[in-house]
Amino acid sequence: MPTIIDGKKISQDIKDELREQVRLLKEQGKKVSLAVILVGEDPASCVYVRNKKKACEYIGIESLSYELPETTTEEELLTLIQELNGKNDVNGILVQLPLPKHMDEDKIIKAIDPAKDVDGFHPQSVGALSIGLPGFVSCTPAGIIQLLKRSNIPMEGKNCVIIGRSNIVGKPMALLMLRENATVTVTHSRTKDLSSVTREADILIVAMGKRKFVTADYVKDGAVVIDVGMHRDENNKLCGDVDYDDVAPKCSAITPVPGGVGPMTIAMLMYNCVASANMTNE
Ligand code: NAP
Repeated sequence: MPTIIDGKKISQDIKDELREQVRLLKEQGKKVSLAVILVGEDPASCVYVRNKKKACEYIGIESLSYELPETTTEEELLTLIQELNGKNDVNGILVQLPLPKHMDEDKIIKAIDPAKDVDGFHPQSVGALSIGLPGFVSCTPAGIIQLLKRSNIPMEGKNCVIIGRSNIVGKPMALLMLRENATVTVTHSRTKDLSSVTREADILIVAMGKRKFVTADYVKDGAVVIDVGMHRDENNKLCGDVDYDDVAPKCSAITPVPGGVGPMTIAMLMYNCVASANMTNE
């Protein structure tokens, strides 16, 4: 049977380590704070924001909440971001996506000071990652690296295949795996004969947004499978992009959904906030 990579436990370990770091910072009279901006009332976004605030509370990060009406103009949001950029006591700025349709997300992300870009979405953060300079890294792929490292799964020299090339998961994931000295292949919707490519993977990372798409035929015996997908199945149970029951018996290790990659995203957001505070407090 495969090792089931326990994202719940690993994310809890990270949050406990951060809680201790924040406690030590507080002893030195320093605090960590995150500004969370939500525009509108998208139900999924409201849940994400609530969970982020809960994690802040647990770790001891002050969360400043800006819940703005759907009718907020782009100008008003840009003005708020400029204000927060200028506040020395704000370490991180998070704008919950997606934004209402009348706003240009790229313009909003670019307005965030890269030193406070704890989501790692600013073009400067992405550029820094691509040429190996320090900067914030997108939380989901950063969390996957932690899952692998803390499960003692070696990456160096391994064949890593990623399904998906989105800006928030697939592309930064590829750069991070390169940084770990894996040999990386990125696949997407135009890839020909996908399963013949994925069957070469020692580590297969699936971020395609297609419910239970990856079956045992896509996986080599003994592979490590990381499932980023998040869906509801026909019985309204959470499931991933991977058909877990079909794939798990073939793997050496696999992440479940829920309890795999999901909890890591918030843990790494918290990690980025504390890192930002450490940088500004230096
Ligand atoms: P996305 O922006 O929709 O990107 C999906 C990628 O998959 C695209 O690059 C697309 O290729 C590729 N793709 C789609 N169908 C394919 C196919 N049949 N064969 C090969 N490639 C295919 O999605 P995302 O934002 O990266 O998210 C992916 C999944 O992860 C979603 O289920 C999302 O809910 C989940 N997610 C979870 C977390 C978490 O914290 N657990 C965080 C982020 C995302 P093209 O580029 O050619 O269109």
